[in-house]
Amino acid sequence: MALGEFERIDRFFVPLARGAEGAFGLTDDAALLPDAPQGSAWVVTVDALVSGVHFLPDDAPDLIARKALRVNLSDLAAMGAVPYGYTLALALPRDLPDPEGWLSRFAEGLRHDQDEFGVHLLGGDSVSTPGPVTLSVTAFGSVARGREIRRSGARVGDDLWVSGTVGDSALGLKVLTSVIDPDESGDPQLIDRYRLPQPRIRLGPGLVGLATAALDVSDGLVQDSGHLAHRSGAAVRIEAGAVPLSPAAHRRVDSQPALLHDALTGGDDYELLFTAPLSARKGVVEAAAAVDVMVTRIGSVEAGQGVRVVGPDGQVLSGLKRGGWSHF
Ligand SMILES: [Mg+2]
Repeated sequence: MALGEFERIDRFFVPLARGAEGAFGLTDDAALLPDAPQGSAWVVTVDALVSGVHFLPDDAPDLIARKALRVNLSDLAAMGAVPYGYTLALALPRDLPDPEGWLSRFAEGLRHDQDEFGVHLLGGDSVSTPGPVTLSVTAFGSVARGREIRRSGARVGDDLWVSGTVGDSALGLKVLTSVIDPDESGDPQLIDRYRLPQPRIRLGPGLVGLATAALDVSDGLVQDSGHLAHRSGAAVRIEAGAVPLSPAAHRRVDSQPALLHDALTGGDDYELLFTAPLSARKGVVEAAAAVDVMVTRIGSVEAGQGVRVVGPDGQVLSGLKRGGWSHF
């Protein structure tokens, strides 16, 4: 027999709140946030995910849970914040087969990432829906007061940096949805990047005081560069040849050069895109090395507006249709 709502909460979610100060074991109407660490302010962010839009309907419940948590942790990292905890709202289809089995695997995914990233469940709600699986995570973190990294701080002359590699997730989704043919040698890595982002939660706080502006790449490198440029009242120049690709993405792009467009505009990278003055180059490299994350200088901030993507021989890449960079 199916469990009632309270039994579900007890079995699957109360264990995830254990150890969270102010969560009261999910027994009250709301949770309390403790004082932010000395000299810090709370940072809060929310992201909703819908089956068929942000993940594939047959993705495993534990991976869905982890992706929902991680995209929020990525937003905290982009602000330079250290994660603390999260709340969760979950809507499950009324006709979901074996909801307890689904919830059990979903909670296992949360447990895994709570341990990995040092966060706790603070509260939540679950409902049933006539629609697809839908979930929303609200994440809380803290940053030294007044030192949060905004999108608006980039200055003309700053370097443009990105962490990790770009494009794996977009290419992985193309494999998963059979838009491009599978290639056994490198594709598992691309697919993993789509299913399970790696939020840069240690790099973000390490960039406080170094980066002038930052965001996490969710819409696509080019589009998100546009957001940063717009908020900062400047232009961004990206050297396409400098953008770091993984070996698997490189292989794909070498055999099908048009895929470079997808890599640069596809999104779901959850890498940090940030700017810093030339005087901070050494500091940025050291901060990244300290947390074992690769960072690459891929361009600069210029006077003007919008984004210019420059090819290896100096020509401005433009004229592509939707999904490309023509809208800049
Ligand atoms: Mg973001």
